[in-house]
Amino acid sequence: MQYTRTLYWIMNKKSKKMLVAILLGFLLVTTIFNNWKSNEMAGSNPGILNVGFDVDDTILFSRDVFLNIPEDKRNPTDYGWVNMQDEKLSLFIEPTVELIKYFKNNGHNVFLITARSGENGDYLAKFLSDGLGLDITKDENLFFCPKESINGVRYTTKHYQMKKLNLDLFYGDADTDMIAALKASVYPVRIIRHNESIEQYGNNYFGNLTDGEKEKNPFQMNDLKIFYSKSVGIYGESIYPIIWKGP
Ligand SMILES: [Mg+2]
Repeated sequence: MQYTRTLYWIMNKKSKKMLVAILLGFLLVTTIFNNWKSNEMAGSNPGILNVGFDVDDTILFSRDVFLNIPEDKRNPTDYGWVNMQDEKLSLFIEPTVELIKYFKNNGHNVFLITARSGENGDYLAKFLSDGLGLDITKDENLFFCPKESINGVRYTTKHYQMKKLNLDLFYGDADTDMIAALKASVYPVRIIRHNESIEQYGNNYFGNLTDGEKEKNPFQMNDLKIFYSKSVGIYGESIYPIIWKGP
């Protein structure tokens, strides 16, 4: 009986119109709410970029730190020692320092992500704070993301942090920086590594430019000039065209 009555009510023309009106009303309210919500989200972050930077060979010319690691602090690298040496041995790469200051002065957020591990990381934070003229604090705007080994290959883990920080852009020198940015859907930009660093540490930079075996590494030093002249790298990244002249 109850069922028949309900059916009768539904079939009633007036009720049908009411149902349609309710449905349309519901759709309208949902659309307005969604619009308001997306405006609210955009409004809370009005054009402010979250920009990430790698540290070694991007902000710091730290080649001499790594060259001077004592025998008993290698394999694996003792980063507790490394992170205390920058004051003595590292130089700031001025074009990157200027770029970081540019972003900060225009109200954007800057974060630093290194593949070093975090032992004595406060020393590196202090050194970077002094050189950049910014307040750099470990685990606040300086993050340590060591690589992880899978079947003997060391892979970047920086993308996990990039995602957490919701980065828009990432500047780095290494292939793994470009890979991490792509994994995190962050726009990758390559900082040009100083020639002395390429010679000393050929790998993780356009494959391995110092390895003569073309089968293993298709790109050689001469190919680098082509990449630089076109401002694009092997991962489709942009190349930041200003080159640090060196020590
Ligand atoms: Mg680097």
